[in-house]
Amino acid sequence: MSKDNGGSSILAEILERLDVSDDTRKMLSRAQRRLEVSVPVRRDDGTLSVYRGWRVQYNDVLGPTKGGIRFHPGVTLEEVTDLARWMTIKCALLNLPFGGAKGGVQVDPKELSGQEKERLSRSFIRAITDIIGPDRDIPAPDVNTGPRVMGWMVDEYSIIKRQQVPAVVTGKPLPLGGSAGRVEATGRGALHVLDVWAGRQGKKPEDVTIAVQGFGNAGGNFAVLAQEAGYKIVAVSDSSGALHAAEGLDPAPLFEKKQSGDTIGDLGAKGAEQIGTDALLALDVDVLALAALQDAVTEKNAGDVQAGMILEIANGPVSPKADAALAERGVQVLPDVLVNAGGVTVSYFEWIQGRSGDYWGAEKVDSRLKERMLPVAQHCFDRAEEDGLTARQAAYAIAIERIAAAIESRGDSCYFRQ
Ligand code: NAD
Repeated sequence: MSKDNGGSSILAEILERLDVSDDTRKMLSRAQRRLEVSVPVRRDDGTLSVYRGWRVQYNDVLGPTKGGIRFHPGVTLEEVTDLARWMTIKCALLNLPFGGAKGGVQVDPKELSGQEKERLSRSFIRAITDIIGPDRDIPAPDVNTGPRVMGWMVDEYSIIKRQQVPAVVTGKPLPLGGSAGRVEATGRGALHVLDVWAGRQGKKPEDVTIAVQGFGNAGGNFAVLAQEAGYKIVAVSDSSGALHAAEGLDPAPLFEKKQSGDTIGDLGAKGAEQIGTDALLALDVDVLALAALQDAVTEKNAGDVQAGMILEIANGPVSPKADAALAERGVQVLPDVLVNAGGVTVSYFEWIQGRSGDYWGAEKVDSRLKERMLPVAQHCFDRAEEDGLTARQAAYAIAIERIAAAIESRGDSCYFRQ
C-alpha cells in the first residue's frame, strides 16, 4: 500500500488545477460509503475463523459502482479506499456508466482449503448483500480471486435473492455467464495503450524491448499478446525469480507452464539466464511493464530504473514519490487507470450481456475493447501534450471533468434535505 497515499494526493492535486466547483471538490475528497464487516468461516476442523472485510463505494454519480474483491493478508481499509478511488477515475476515464468501488478480506487464502475458500466467498457476499446489486454495486475478481470465486459469489447472491441475478458480479466462469475475452482483457488493453504510445513515438514493435514484472493473469497474458504483436520480450518475473534473454524469449510456453503450477524460478528458456527479481527492474530496456503488486518502484529503487517508459499494468506499482523522481529524469509513466482498464471494460461488456441475455463471441469482445481503448489512450496523450501534463495527470483531469459535469448536472435535491 502506498505509504504516501498517492491515490488521494494526485486527486487533490488535479482537483486544485481544474476549474471544478467546490461541491465537486468536496464530494470527491471522501468515499461515499465504507462498510466494514466480519466474515465468519467454519474451518474444516470444526473451528470458526472470523476475518475482517470491507467494501468501499467511492462515488456513484456516473452509475452503479464497480470494482474487484481481493483476498490478501495485507488488505486494509485504507488500501481498499485507494483502490475504490482509482476505480472511480478509471471508469470515468473510459466513459463507462459506472462509479468506483473495491472490496477486500484480510485473509491468507493459501492457508485455506478449497471448501474453506468457498465458505469465505459466500460469507463475504452475505455480509455485503445489502449494498450490492446489478444497479448498485457490481463486484469482480482481483488479487487471489478469479472466475471460481465469482461463480460462488453469484450463486450465493442468487440464493439470497431467490432469483437468477447474473449481472451482480463480473469475471464469472463462462458457463455461468462470464464473457469471452475477459481473462485476457487486462493484458490486451495494456497492449492497445502500448501500441498507441509506440505509434506516437514512431517506434515499430520489433524495435521495442520489454521486461515484464509479474507473470500472472495480467502480466502473463500481456507478455504473450505483446510478443505475438512483434514486441521483444526480454525478461519476465514472478515472485520466485526472473528470466532474462537479451535476444528475446517466447513467453507463451513459459506462461503455459506457469499456469499448470511451475514457477519462473524453476523454469529455463533458450538463451535465457536466471536473474534476481530486483535486477529485472533495473534492466536497460525500452519498456518496463509492472504487473505484480503495488509499490514495486518506490523512491528507494526509482534511481535504478533504466527503462525509458513504465507501463503500469498493476494498480499503483509506482509510488507517488517514485513517480515524481522518474518524471524529473524524463522516464515516462503510463498510468494504471488507463493501462489496466481493459479488465473493467470487458467486465462492462459482461454486465451488458448479463442484463440483456445476449452472448458476444471473442471477436466481438476484442474488437469492442480496441474501439474503446485506442481513442481514450490518444485523448489522454493529446491532453498531456496540450496542457504540459504527465499522462497520469491528464488521465485524472479527463476523468474528474466527466465526474464533475455529472455532479453539477444532477442537481442538488439530496443535499438540501435535512
Ligand atoms: P496474479 O495473482 O494473477 O499475478 C500476480 C503475479 O505477480 C504473480 O505471477 C506473482 O508471482 C507476481 N509477483 C508478486 N510479487 C512479485 C515480485 N516481487 N516480483 C515479481 N513478480 C511478483 O494477479 P493479476 O490478476 O495478474 O493482477 C496483477 C496486478 O494487476 C494487480 O495489481 C491487480 O490489481 C492488477 N489488475 C489486474 C486485473 C486483472 O484483470 N487481472 C485488472 C486490473 C488490474
